[in-house]
Amino acid sequence: MSRHRYFKGSGDGRRPRGSDPLVDARPSYDAIVVGSGLAGLTAANVLAKLGRKVAVLEQHYNFGGLATWFKRRGGHVFDVSLHGFPVGMIKTCRRHWSDEIASRIVRLDGVRFDNPQFGFDTTFTREDFTDKLVSVFGQSRSNVDAFFEHLRALNHYDDARETTAEVFERFFPGRNDVHRLLLEPIAYANGSTLEDPAVAYAIVFSNFMSKGVYTFSGGTDRLILAMKRALLANGVELFNHVQVDRIVIEDGRARGVEAHGRFVGARAVLSNANLKRTILEMCGREHFAPEFAAGVEAVRLNNSSCQVYFGIREGERVPWITDLLFTSTRERFDSPALCDLHGQSRTFSFYYPKTRPGSERYTIVSSTNANWSDWASLDRPAYEREKQRLIDDTTDQLERYVPNIRAIAGHVEAATPRTFEFYTRHAQGASFGTKWEGLRFSLDLPNQIEGLFHAGSVGIIMSGWLGAANYGVITANKIDLFLQAGAHVATSARSGE
Ligand SMILES: Cc1cc2nc3c(=O)[nH]c(=O)nc-3n(C[C@H](O)[C@H](O)[C@H](O)COP(=O)(O)OP(=O)(O)OC[C@H]3O[C@@H](n4cnc5c(N)ncnc54)[C@H](O)[C@@H]3O)c2cc1C
Repeated sequence: MSRHRYFKGSGDGRRPRGSDPLVDARPSYDAIVVGSGLAGLTAANVLAKLGRKVAVLEQHYNFGGLATWFKRRGGHVFDVSLHGFPVGMIKTCRRHWSDEIASRIVRLDGVRFDNPQFGFDTTFTREDFTDKLVSVFGQSRSNVDAFFEHLRALNHYDDARETTAEVFERFFPGRNDVHRLLLEPIAYANGSTLEDPAVAYAIVFSNFMSKGVYTFSGGTDRLILAMKRALLANGVELFNHVQVDRIVIEDGRARGVEAHGRFVGARAVLSNANLKRTILEMCGREHFAPEFAAGVEAVRLNNSSCQVYFGIREGERVPWITDLLFTSTRERFDSPALCDLHGQSRTFSFYYPKTRPGSERYTIVSSTNANWSDWASLDRPAYEREKQRLIDDTTDQLERYVPNIRAIAGHVEAATPRTFEFYTRHAQGASFGTKWEGLRFSLDLPNQIEGLFHAGSVGIIMSGWLGAANYGVITANKIDLFLQAGAHVATSARSGE
């Protein structure tokens, strides 16, 4: 991710650097959205379409949060989190963004597994997984059907104590290879582990299984540009380079935010920042019931990520392999080992010219899950050594599929949990927010502090592009109801009723 500082801006993000990024801000808004991830942006758009006056304050120069991209000399454009999402994103974007955005969501042409236990191409649908589980893994069709039906029947209100491992063991006892097929891709999508509640796994897995894996044709830059245009057209005010230091709470009510040494008022504040940072740092635990604050302290963060970006030199090409390759040299599946510092498992996303129609360029991005603790305390030389090792190991693995990768790569660089922490301010570089238990606190926030809301990666199911965007919609509707109720009270008070 780039450290370039293109603009320092407000309104539409085009103010020259050096000036006050909040110079155009109003004294107060109906709602302030802190952070411009997909949850924050979607919430802002929904609220604006409902007629609310909304400002989005983003600390980075780009909008989009982890839905981001960066450019490098030589014409390379890298997508950070555009690897794949479920078909539901089309409906969400059509309803809450635009037909233009929805119509650019297309299905991936290829998904492949390659590890010592199995290797094949898949459409990543229930039909194809059923075929594979029967023909490759020797499972009975009735057992596989029962497994899918069990997952489909699980919902938010179910007891969340049953773990994914328990469900896998019940349907596929002792079948480490089947567990790998079922969990590894979802672990990359949202940090799921065998120990997480089965309901979280079930919701995300079933979403993917309905119609396979989708992407945005045009790249993340085009998506965020289209979103920015829609937001501005709907009257949302966008401010980048604005880090919110504090959410101001008085008399149990959110009053606005403090940023760049000034106060901006709001009737409602929606934080799209990490849940724990929102509550414990930006608000301050003293504003919450002690048991609530203690509960938030105990919420576990999800894992972080490492990536290696390969930009292919202009004029060079990569032959068709697949779009998404789940690859590992590890003999047996081991859920925690997916985060190992020197892990043997990774996903390669291959971006062909079709990713950005009109361009002739190729890029390849390797993603691995990672533990913050492995990277956090390395001193600078050790950190640089580990980054180089990550690049070298990844290049060795990529060479198995693209034998001339060293010759055709014009740019290679790596991102680590420290990179993600730096660019998103997410505690410990958490890629997918918090574990399941965070959801309760995120949802309960307005009951603790009037006018304070949270939306963003939390509880696994509200994570990923689709989960985050949908959570933005849900929360925006709650905020609108809250504002309506407030308006009613104000009107009643004025008319003396
Ligand atoms: C390597 C990687 C690969 C991924 N791949 C996929 C994938 O293929 N498919 C998929 O669906 N999902 C993927 N994800 C997950 C997905 O990108 C995220 O779940 C989703 O984008 C998160 O959206 P969000 O709304 O929670 O906010 P985020 O994207 O986390 O954004 C939060 C925003 O808040 C801003 N912010 C934080 N604190 C402040 C503050 N104090 N003041 C102002 N601004 C602040 C941050 O700068 C950031 O812009 C991936 C994630 C990673 C890391």
